[in-house]
Amino acid sequence: MLAIIERALGAPRKLSRVTVSIGPLSGVSPDSLSFCFAPIAIEAGFGSPELVFRRKGIMVECASCGGVEEMVEPGAQCSSCGSRDRSILSGMECTVESVEIEDREEAGR
Ligand SMILES: [Zn+2]
Repeated sequence: MLAIIERALGAPRKLSRVTVSIGPLSGVSPDSLSFCFAPIAIEAGFGSPELVFRRKGIMVECASCGGVEEMVEPGAQCSSCGSRDRSILSGMECTVESVEIEDREEAGR
């Protein structure tokens, strides 16, 4: 995840906030991610940014009618045609949505 941020910025910079979107099927827990993230961020030169999580829904596509909607509960039927034959489009992601760079220049650097 930090590699993604690093690539986006070019070089490590002090960040004030990192927004991460997490799908319910990603198996990533925000708590453990926060716990792991803090020491890695400091070591990588990103400072101590605030981690903000945006939970994403599970989007499914119906095989019968082609309708795309958010799956409210596992195994729920299509709201248009009632089919249960649907494939999951998203919900497994764990991606960095945006980063905020700290503007303040630190003295002595
Ligand atoms: Zn349908």
